[in-house]
Amino acid sequence: QNFIIAIDGYSSCGKSTIAKSLASKLNFLFVDSGALYRAVTLFFIENELETADEAKVNEALDSIMLAQLADGLETRTFLNERDVSSVIRQMHVSSRVSKISALREVRHFIVNKLQEIGRSQSIIMDGRDIGTVVFPHAHLKIFMNARPDVRAKRRYAELMAKGENISLSEIMDNLLLRDQHDTTREESPLVQAHDAYYVDTSDLTEDEVLGLIAARYRE
Ligand code: C5P
Repeated sequence: QNFIIAIDGYSSCGKSTIAKSLASKLNFLFVDSGALYRAVTLFFIENELETADEAKVNEALDSIMLAQLADGLETRTFLNERDVSSVIRQMHVSSRVSKISALREVRHFIVNKLQEIGRSQSIIMDGRDIGTVVFPHAHLKIFMNARPDVRAKRRYAELMAKGENISLSEIMDNLLLRDQHDTTREESPLVQAHDAYYVDTSDLTEDEVLGLIAARYRE
């Protein structure tokens, strides 16, 4: 039977780092659901799509093919066979993704895709609604958070390492805005599943977080 681990939580609290590490330890597939929302957002930006028009949104989704492939510890995301793994992390995508991912049609499209991936293999999936909507019967659910200043600093270090030219305050603004959109949207808002294990990563190292989750997994 496929084993499913759902890791949900706020932006930049370390979900994907932990999910990747755990996936490689357990030999599970890591699935980054946020990257798929980002890829759809990129498509909308590049095609200057009007998001209020439901028919146009559906038409656009019909012409989108998404794929995610494991590449060592990393995953690469493909939009209509083009590798968009780097560009989807840029600020012009980050600043639009919460709006696009709040669209009902977009969520249906991606949720179906994610459920399909989980049917054929054991996975660790990170996102916002994995334990609540995508896999409500996941075997293990984790909900992660960290203080906003800690999250902004982590994201800043990550983007700096990639040579992005951006200030800490821009990142903080984007994080807080995304938190607000993600928690207040009508379609599957970010909430902790009642049976999820809560971890605040603010003052924990990666190994400490992994230790806590591994202990839960073994239970
Ligand atoms: O995880 P990441 O920060 O890359 O996600 C980008 C955005 O995609 C989130 O801010 C959220 O708006 C959206 N998202 C979502 N549901 C998911 C994963 C991401 O709505 N399961």
